Amino acid sequence: MKLIFCTSCQHVFKLRRQQTQYCPCGMAWGRYHDERLASYGGESAVPLIIVNSQFIKAFRAWQEDDTRPFAELDFTGGFCPLKSETFMHEDDAKLIEKLKQLGGPRAKCPFCGDIIQSMHRLDFRACECGKSFITGGKECSRSSENLEFLKED
Ligand SMILES: [Zn+2]
Ligand SMILES: [Zn+2]
Repeated sequence: MKLIFCTSCQHVFKLRRQQTQYCPCGMAWGRYHDERLASYGGESAVPLIIVNSQFIKAFRAWQEDDTRPFAELDFTGGFCPLKSETFMHEDDAKLIEKLKQLGGPRAKCPFCGDIIQSMHRLDFRACECGKSFITGGKECSRSSENLEFLKED
């Protein structure tokens, strides 16, 4: 999950899809653009990431037995690399959104959940797990089976 830390009021907050979320002092904000892409804005915003799978694993372990050693209840998270392709400054995210409109339909891999899009006729894109692909740009000339095409909002 993607979070924002405000360096001014030191608040940490989670992002949502439809609506921009702000910290209490208003110097940091952010939102999701789709299931994967999120952006942050404001001069005090610092992007944070928690690895979901590890977070859930640690949470389940804690539910079972909260006296386990801390190492078993720990999860990975930290500051997001500033060059991340899925969590970026809002100016960059706007650019990506514009670029997305130039490409073909976007589709989700039913196995790994990765979202793929072919940007032009010869652009071949595979998902993270390698089971799905899409190519052909706007005409989407070829794709693997079972792809879930996304309705753009
Ligand atoms: Zn703040
Ligand atoms: Zn996949």
